[in-house]
Amino acid sequence: MTPALEELIPEFIRGLPVYIPGKPIEEVERELNIHAIKLASNENPLGPSPMAMEAVRAALAESHRYPDGGTCRLREKLAKRHGVKPEEIFIGLGSSEIIDLAARILLTRGLTGLTSEGSYAPFSIAIRANGANLKRVPLREFTFDLKAMAEALTPHTHVVYLANPNNPTGTAFGNDELEEFLSRVADDVLVVLDEAYIHYAERADMPRSVEIFRERKNLLILRTFSKVYGLAGLRLGYGIGPEVIVAAMNKLRTPFNVSGLSQAAAIAALDDEQHVRRSIETNRTERKRLCTELSALGLRPVPSHTNFIFMEIGPEASAISEELLHEGVIVRPLGWMGFPEAVRVSVGTAEENEKFLAAMDRVWSKRAGKSELTTR
Ligand SMILES: *Cc1c(COP(=O)(O)O)cnc(C)c1O
Repeated sequence: MTPALEELIPEFIRGLPVYIPGKPIEEVERELNIHAIKLASNENPLGPSPMAMEAVRAALAESHRYPDGGTCRLREKLAKRHGVKPEEIFIGLGSSEIIDLAARILLTRGLTGLTSEGSYAPFSIAIRANGANLKRVPLREFTFDLKAMAEALTPHTHVVYLANPNNPTGTAFGNDELEEFLSRVADDVLVVLDEAYIHYAERADMPRSVEIFRERKNLLILRTFSKVYGLAGLRLGYGIGPEVIVAAMNKLRTPFNVSGLSQAAAIAALDDEQHVRRSIETNRTERKRLCTELSALGLRPVPSHTNFIFMEIGPEASAISEELLHEGVIVRPLGWMGFPEAVRVSVGTAEENEKFLAAMDRVWSKRAGKSELTTR
């Protein structure tokens, strides 16, 4: 690009960081000529819901038609399930699209978007992409510090992003904490509550977010089909939010943002209770085992409410990730997310976790004794 053209791009867009996705399996296998397993993007290790796959096969024959641009059936189904109006449901090209649209309809130069450090990078990118100021409050013990966030609100703050459970730390806050926070947020501030991992949360007092939404309308709850439903590749998420917000986002999205195959898959996946249950149970069992065995290696996994495990492993975190890659295990080093000493590992199948633990044992034991962490 010529320098002149580049200068036409607003400074706040030129300065944006690039979102770094987990490495694709094919790329690693080609580069290193090995068989690899991917534990880097928190996908469902059991695969897609079989009922969703069947629905996609059936929908394929209609692929010459534009999909339902209003995603009516899916919205009606979700509205019924959550006890809200279809007009309060927005279907996005992944919840990623909704994170972006929420900022686009509400933020501009001179305004502020608030979120936490050590949370999902797309929140910060969405805020900055609109020329707004990004305000980030530090985490407390790897968890959203909602008290400090409430104190950081100003009259210029128009959007707040929360992830519960949080990615990449895996922690969660409870209903009382959220209610207390919301009581300090003005009615004309939108709180985006990203619940991508809600199915995996363990604490009994998880926020009753939809109930809260029904009582006070400045909440936009985000859910995704990418995690427990196993449809990350089909790109589908939804928001439950105020009608005016949903209507505004509908004006900005592209006319057919969600494909017919994706809509069919989502409708079927919602009915596949067995797949959801099995996904949650496998995750619970395997997450527990991973935590126990990682602790036995002298590591300190942060208790997780998600389908991944976060742990600080010291200054060599990125070197260790690279060594694991050569062992055929793709994990996520978190330097670019603000944790230079941490990695995030998705909970895989029993077999995948076995392979990861064996690789981690080899890579970590080499360092045992040398590491300050193990002697602490
Ligand atoms: C995985 C994830 C999502 C899902 O994004 P999609 O675009 O729906 O695939 C959303 N939020 C968080 C915090 C996530 O970790």
